[in-house]
Formats: sequence, structure tokens, C-alpha cells
Amino acid sequence: MSFLRRNKKQQEAPPPPPTAVHEDVSAQQYSLKLAFLARSSDGLRMQADPEVMKALPGILEPLAETSVEVIEPLPLEYTDAAPNLERFNEMQQWVLARRDLGPIGRHALYVLEQTDALDMTVDTFYAALLHGETDTAGYPEYNAIVGGLASHWDELSGELIVRAVIGWGGKGQRGDTERIGQRILSSLYQQIIASGYSLGAAESARAALPGLRSGLVCAHCGFEAGSAGAFYCPKCGMRMVRT
Ligand SMILES: [Zn+2]
Repeated sequence: MSFLRRNKKQQEAPPPPPTAVHEDVSAQQYSLKLAFLARSSDGLRMQADPEVMKALPGILEPLAETSVEVIEPLPLEYTDAAPNLERFNEMQQWVLARRDLGPIGRHALYVLEQTDALDMTVDTFYAALLHGETDTAGYPEYNAIVGGLASHWDELSGELIVRAVIGWGGKGQRGDTERIGQRILSSLYQQIIASGYSLGAAESARAALPGLRSGLVCAHCGFEAGSAGAFYCPKCGMRMVRT
């Protein structure tokens, strides 16, 4: 048997010569490289006084190249809103919630929400153009720096926590944007301290565990706190009522 098999193998035709593979097919390439960068300062604790919130636009104004837009946290019916084109329900909510904003505020939210530098379920955002140019439609260029201040209420102390937040990006990058951005962030932070309302550095810059559900709902604005131990609503600053 083994003799026969060997014999059969010898009779097999040699493999055909390899055909040339055409790797260089004529083709066009399409690509899009987007890059967004954001920076947030540590949080600063401020007096829990409505007057302090009213003063925040004035703290940003000296560093802003445009008027300051005050962008409220998302209303309850739009809590899933996100500038995410593929997730159409989130995008639709975002468009409805933000349709009245100007192009600078909208671009700033687009950059800072996508990079998670803002959590608009609780943050109030004071936005402006801080450096650079806009296009003819008023939208900031990729190397323009946008941002300003973000505030929320500390769940345990009820103090107002304020951060300096900046971002830039899009279809391009420029080497000096990062350096200019860092300088602006530092100026914004110093400006908050110089306002005289600051009580010192906050332990955590962001609201505790954003996006989690604890079952503890604010009686004033309907926001569901991320931790069941919250004494104050991070969104509206009112005391949580326990039943
Ligand atoms: Zn509330």
C-alpha cells in the first residue's frame, strides 16, 4: 500500500506557476482624522450663594474674545442628549436641547462633551471664544481655543465647585495651540481666585459618580443623584429631601 501511495504522488502534476497578484489596484483613498483636546483645572470651592453664580460670567469676561454664553445643565427630558451623530436618539435630544445656542457655545459643547471634560447633566457652562478665529459662519477654527468656566454643587457640602475648562480641535492641529491653551487655563484659574469668592481647592473636581442612579431624587429639579449619600443636589444646589 505504501508503495502505491508514493507512486501516485510522483504522478501528480506540478503545481501551476503562481499568477502575478495585482496589489497596485487603481484606487482612491478617503480618510478623516479628527483630534480634540480638552483641559480642566482642579475645582475651586465657592460660597454657596446665588450671587456667586451671577458673578461667574464677569470672572470670565476679561479673558473672553466674545460675549459669554451661559449654558444650563440639560433639562430632565433630555438627559441622554449627547453630540454623537451615530447614536441618533442622543443626537436628536442634543439638537433639541441646544438649538438656541450660538455657534461658539455649540462648538465648545461639541468639543468638551465628546472629551468628557463637561458633564452637562449637572454642569452649568460659561462659554466663550478664548483665542483664535472663527469661519465666516461664526464657527471656531480647529486651532481656536474655546471654553470658560464650569460649575456644579458639591453633594456633601452644598458649596459651588468651579473649574476652568478649555478645549480645541477638529480637522487639524497646530503645535503652539497646546502652549497657548495652558496659559489661558492658568489665567482663568487665577481669575477665579482673584474674584475673592473662592474658599480654596476642592477635593474632587467633578461631581461624584456622574451617570449612576441611586434612587435619591431632588424634589426641586428632579435630578437623580449619583450617590445615595448626597445631601445637596449637584445640579441645582438645593438640599435633598429624604423620605
Ligand atoms: Zn436639584
